[in-house]
Order: sequence, then C-alpha cells, then structure tokens
Amino acid sequence: MGIASEIPPQLVEEIRSKALNAARPRGLTPEQQGALSEKIQALLEKNNAVLITHYYVDEQLQILTDATGGYVGDSLGMADYGNRHPATTLVVVGVRFMGESAKILNPEKRVIMPDLAAECSLDLSCPIGTFSAFCDEHPDRTVVVYANTSAEVKARSDWVVTSSNAVDIVAHLRSKGEKVIFAPDRHLGNYVQNQTGADILNWQGFCVVHDEFKAKELQRLMQENPDAEVIAHPESPAEVLDMAHAIGSTTQLINAAKASKAKTLIVATDFGLFHKMHEAAPDKQLMAVPTGGDSASCVSCAHCPWMAMNSLENLAAVLENGAGHEIEIDESVRKKALIPIERMLEFSRSRGNV
Ligand code: SF4
Repeated sequence: MGIASEIPPQLVEEIRSKALNAARPRGLTPEQQGALSEKIQALLEKNNAVLITHYYVDEQLQILTDATGGYVGDSLGMADYGNRHPATTLVVVGVRFMGESAKILNPEKRVIMPDLAAECSLDLSCPIGTFSAFCDEHPDRTVVVYANTSAEVKARSDWVVTSSNAVDIVAHLRSKGEKVIFAPDRHLGNYVQNQTGADILNWQGFCVVHDEFKAKELQRLMQENPDAEVIAHPESPAEVLDMAHAIGSTTQLINAAKASKAKTLIVATDFGLFHKMHEAAPDKQLMAVPTGGDSASCVSCAHCPWMAMNSLENLAAVLENGAGHEIEIDESVRKKALIPIERMLEFSRSRGNV
C-alpha cells in the first residue's frame, strides 16, 4: 500500500485548534430539558420536519429523536432514511457532511442543522484543491472516499463508502482489477487494505476521536479486566484494532455488543454510542478505550467535539427560525456528488445492508 503525502503540520494544528475550541452547549436542568423537548416536538409537527440523528450526539437528542418518530443511526442509515421519509424538512443532528449528504440526495427538501459549524476532522483533512490535484496525478486509480468528506470531494470521487461497506466495496473493485485511491481516513484505509489486499494509495487524514485511542493503555485495561472483550471502530489506530475481538461500523458494533458472550466490553469509538449499545445489550458493562495515560494528548476524550455542539437549545432555535442554518450546495456539485453516493446505496441495497 502506498501513502499520499502527510497532512501539512499547519493544517493538523488548525484542525486540533478547531476541535479544542468547538462551542460547548451549557448544561440544562431536567425541567428545562422537558420543556425544550415538548417545544421541539410541537415545532417538528408545525414544520413537517423529522429528526435524523447520529449515534454520537447527546443521549437526550437520541431519546427525543426516537420519541418523535425520527431516526438514530450511522451515516449510511441516515442518508437512506432521509431519502425515504416523506417530511419536507430534514433536521440533521450530527455534523456538516451528514447534512450535505441529506441535501445531495434530497434537493427538493429543506435540510437544516442545529449548528453548521459542527465539522469533522476527516472532512477538514481532505481539502478539495490538494485532493483533486492528487487524484489528477493518478488517473489510473478509482477514487474511493469515505462519507466523512465535503460535497466537493464526493463530487470528485467514483465511489462513496461508509465504515459499514468500505471493505465490501473495495473488495468488489479489487475483484475487477481496479487500483484505488482511498481517502481521507488513514486508519480505515489501512484496515480496508489489510482486509482486501487491494492496491491502495491511502490519504493521511485522521479522526480526532479515534486517532487518540491508546494501545498501551488499552493493554493495561485488558489486563485489569481479563474477561472483557474489545470492540473497535476501524477509524482507530492499527495497534488498537489488533487487540479487538470485533471491528465494525457503529451499527455493526451495536450488533457485536448484543452478540458477545462477555459481560464487559471495552469500546473504541465515541461514547455517544453507549446509549444505543445499552439499549441493545442492557446486561453489558461498557468501558471506553483510554485516550489518556502515559501517552496522553487528549483533544477529544472519546467524544467528538463537533457532535457535542448539537443541543436541545440550538435544535429548538433552528426549528423556530432556520435562517442561516440551511444546507445549500451548488447544483452542479450536487449532481456530481450524487453519482458515487447512489452507486454506494445501490451496492448496499443489493446486498440487503440498508
Ligand atoms: S467522531 Fe471523528 S469521524 Fe466522526 S464526526 Fe467526529 S471527527 Fe468526524
């Protein structure tokens, strides 16, 4: 496997600084939470809107989404659900690329988000200018990009993948003799290469959450909990994945938690997922893979700073007045980005995975 050039240190610094400075919602009393939830429910009906929410956001938002008939899931499920639901307004509670995916698939619908400044370090580490130039240097390769990218990067790609279908799609491309550029997550690209044996040029982007899980500290935690099993998202470093009993997308990790015979699970992904994992496997004790310890450099502490920007307060505010919170994408970019997304959805539907 080849690697694309490293992400420039200045860009890495910029991304880390954005993560550290992401706005933190204030804490609310149970009474305030209750009042806001009721208000949001009424506003959803008034706006013919539905909540489409990622597993990593605050538990209260996931509970409210379920209670109002919306969807909580991973980015593949979110894209598919928004596409099928009849609501005229989609409220995407997650990070910006998820809102963009919803808009790419549903140009006729209004897509709003509680905070458009909720970004993703993978998206930020793959700027369209440098990425497109890199692809131009390798015209013989199929361009495969992770869903965690901008609409422009998707428009430059041949395939969009998520962590639940990346291995299957790249294996499919390899079976046709295609060589691949994979972007932007270096750990996922590495994992996909190991699983498929495909010829991959791997972009060196990173997730500020998963990149920080520490193998050394995980080893210590496993020694202290010898009966525990480790389940990990493939955006985690290879040394962490090497110790995992199960590896998969967020939905696949929930299923793995349900299926596991172990009473204790050590989980390498954003701890926002614990809410749905507890629902699916209430008898299991869940522990987060350490991000601290001897080699600490914690920016995220197992929780995405941009997912954490979503709150009941800004959700209510955007439903009251969505001005400035609506996702807009240039139509020519949208049409180009739609092709690789539809290719992915068609591939996944043909295998019964959405
Ligand atoms: S957890 Fe990582 S990959 Fe997911 S949105 Fe946050 S920064 Fe991006």
